[in-house]
Amino acid sequence: MLPEPILVVGAGLSGAVIARELAEAGHPVTVFETRGHVAGNCHTARDPETGVMVHLHGPHIFHTDDAVVWDYVNRFARFRPYRNQVKTMVRGQVYSMPINLHTINQFFGTALRPDEARQFVAEMTESGGAPPASFRDQALAMVGPALYEAFLEGYTRKQWGRSPAELPAAVLKRLPLRFSYDDNYFAHRFQGMPEDGYTAMVERMLDHPMIVVHLGQPYSRGDEDIFAHCFYSGPLDQFFDNGLGRLPYRTLDFERFVAEGDWQGCAVMNYADADTPWTRITEHKHFAPWEHHTLSTLTREFSRAAGPGDTLYYPVRLVTELTLLAAYQRLAAEVERVTFVGRLGTYRYLDMDVTIHEALIAARAFLARGRALPHLRATG
Ligand code: UDP
Repeated sequence: MLPEPILVVGAGLSGAVIARELAEAGHPVTVFETRGHVAGNCHTARDPETGVMVHLHGPHIFHTDDAVVWDYVNRFARFRPYRNQVKTMVRGQVYSMPINLHTINQFFGTALRPDEARQFVAEMTESGGAPPASFRDQALAMVGPALYEAFLEGYTRKQWGRSPAELPAAVLKRLPLRFSYDDNYFAHRFQGMPEDGYTAMVERMLDHPMIVVHLGQPYSRGDEDIFAHCFYSGPLDQFFDNGLGRLPYRTLDFERFVAEGDWQGCAVMNYADADTPWTRITEHKHFAPWEHHTLSTLTREFSRAAGPGDTLYYPVRLVTELTLLAAYQRLAAEVERVTFVGRLGTYRYLDMDVTIHEALIAARAFLARGRALPHLRATG
C-alpha cells in the first residue's frame, strides 16, 4: 500500500497514538488541534507560582491491566510508582474512598472483620431481582441505602446534575467495594504517574518526522477531503455542526488556590455532601511525591452542564434517553473515509488506558486492511 496522507483531528491520547502508529508505518500525518496545547484533558503544566505540576483538567492517574498499553506509554514517558488513595468528606468526617472495611467500620462505629462486614452490608442491600440498570439501583444492591446516601448520592447529583436513578449503572461500576483495608482507588496491575507530566508524554508521541501538528487549528467539515483518511477525535455532534442538537456533557470549573506546606495531606479529597458546592479538592503536588515544593497548588472542582464553547468532560448518557446519540451514530456510520475515535468522537466515559487501547486497534486495523474498521460502536 502506498503511504497515504492522513488527517488526525485532535491531539489528545487517541489522536496522538493513531498519528504515531501511522507515521511509524510511513504515512504522512497532519494533526489539527483546536487548543493551544496537546494532550487534551490530561494536559499538565507547571504552576509558575509554585512550580507544582498541575493536572489542569482534574486528576488523571494512569492505571491499566493491559500490558501492551502499559509498555506503550512507557516508551514515551518515565512512569513513577503512584498509588491513588482518595479520601472523602462526609458530614464533617473524613473517610477512605472507595468504600472499604475502614469506611464501613468508621461509618457505623463497628469493628467488623471482613466476613462479618460482608454479611452486615448484604443485610442492608436492596435488590429488585433483575440486574440493576441505574446507578441508584446498582448502589442500593451493592451497599444499601445508608452508605449510598452518605457517600454516593450527593456526590453523584453534583457531578452529573441528574438523579442517580437516571444514570447508568456503569458509572458506579467504576468504583470497587472492598471488605479489606486496601484503599487503592484502582484494582489494576499497573499504576503510575509520568514523571514529566502527560503533556510531555503526548509531545513525545507526536515527535516524529512524518507528523505535523497544527495547534490552534479547528477542524471544519471537508478538511478531510484532501486526505486519504481522517481519524476524528473531536465531539461527535460538532462534526455535524450540531445539526440534530447538542449531546449533553458536563463541564468543570476549577478554582485555584495556593497554600503553604501541605494543605490537605492527600492528592484528592472528595466532598460527598450535597450542600457543599464542589465535588473535590485536588492538591497537585501529592501526584509527584518525589518532588519537593514549599508552596502548594490546589483546585476546587465544580461540575455543571456544558454550554457552547465550554470544555467538554463527561458525556451524560442517561438510561432512557439515547435517541439523539443513536441518530448521530447513524449519521457517522454513513460518512466515508472518517473514523470516529476517543471519548468525544464516540461519546463515551473512557479511561486513558482504554482510549489508548482503542486507538491502537483503530490504527492497526487501518494499516492491516488498508481501510478503517467500521466505526467503533458505543457500548456504555
Ligand atoms: N462517586 C461518588 N462518590 C465518590 C466518588 C465517586 O458517588 O466519592 C461516583 C460519581 O457518580 C462518579 C462515579 O462514582 O461520577 C465515578 O467516579 P470516578 O472516581 O471514577 O470519577 P472520575 O474521577 O472519572 O471523575
